[in-house]
Amino acid sequence: MNPAPVFRFAPSPSGLLHLGHAYSALSCHRAAREAGGRFLLRIEDIDHTRCRPEFERQILDDLAWLGLSWEQPVRRQSEHMADYEQALRRLRKMELIFPCPASRRQIAERAARAGAEARDPDGGLIYPPRSSPGDPDPWPLPITPGEAVSWRLDMGRAAALAQQMTGAEWWFDEQGKGPAGEHGRQLLDPLVWGDVVLARRDIGTSYHLSVVVDDALQGVSHVTRGQDLFAATHIHRLLQILLELPRPVYHHHALVRDEDGRRLSKTDRDTSLKSLREQGMTPAEIAALCGIDNHYDNL
Ligand code: GLU
Repeated sequence: MNPAPVFRFAPSPSGLLHLGHAYSALSCHRAAREAGGRFLLRIEDIDHTRCRPEFERQILDDLAWLGLSWEQPVRRQSEHMADYEQALRRLRKMELIFPCPASRRQIAERAARAGAEARDPDGGLIYPPRSSPGDPDPWPLPITPGEAVSWRLDMGRAAALAQQMTGAEWWFDEQGKGPAGEHGRQLLDPLVWGDVVLARRDIGTSYHLSVVVDDALQGVSHVTRGQDLFAATHIHRLLQILLELPRPVYHHHALVRDEDGRRLSKTDRDTSLKSLREQGMTPAEIAALCGIDNHYDNL
């Protein structure tokens, strides 16, 4: 018999949950129920500069109030840094990552000077790519002993190796929809991200690395999340190939927007679940707003 599918909701306690998170959590929980699967909650709190325990407490409280339940124990990423270090060590042994002391400002200055101001899918400046895999870093900066550095993926080299490792398996399976309606098999195109940071100098890991390691360690088979993370899936699948981890199925969903069509943000207190609760809204009303009303009784 096949093992039960495993779904997860993975918020970061860097602010209050809003309606968009409620939609994500409710639809993920519902999908798990419908598939006879398991539902996990993971707290993505690697960024100690932004995450706070009071936000985590509020997240747990909001989700329970919505009527969701999840397996215990909850995985808190900050308690598992050794797992991310191990993955990083493996990539370092494979000579796929390199230390980079450049600050954001230095990268911006150099990019401007080189007239190479290409942006990644999230709008960030791309670290200048090498002309071909294996070429030296085009912008080497001296590293002073003991200086904290970030670690970047040598994207050209990593993509070439991963393609060799998987051959025809160079894709991920999108069961929902990407922002341009992408559905089904998605051929990988991680090069558009350039040499992404896999370990930030201040926290020793990154969202991309931790999410991939954790999904594998927790046996996650189905990733349900917002379309803002669709493009990042190209990096995630690449890392899964390099680290020989299983391939989950992805289901990206549209983002909840405000009346002006803007994405909801964690800093906008009006659409936070906390404030909607304080205004007297019920969990059933939230679910209805999210378009999940007719299934609410089954949650
Ligand atoms: N922690 C991420 C966020 O709150 C979501 C990660 C994921 O679902 O892959 O945006």
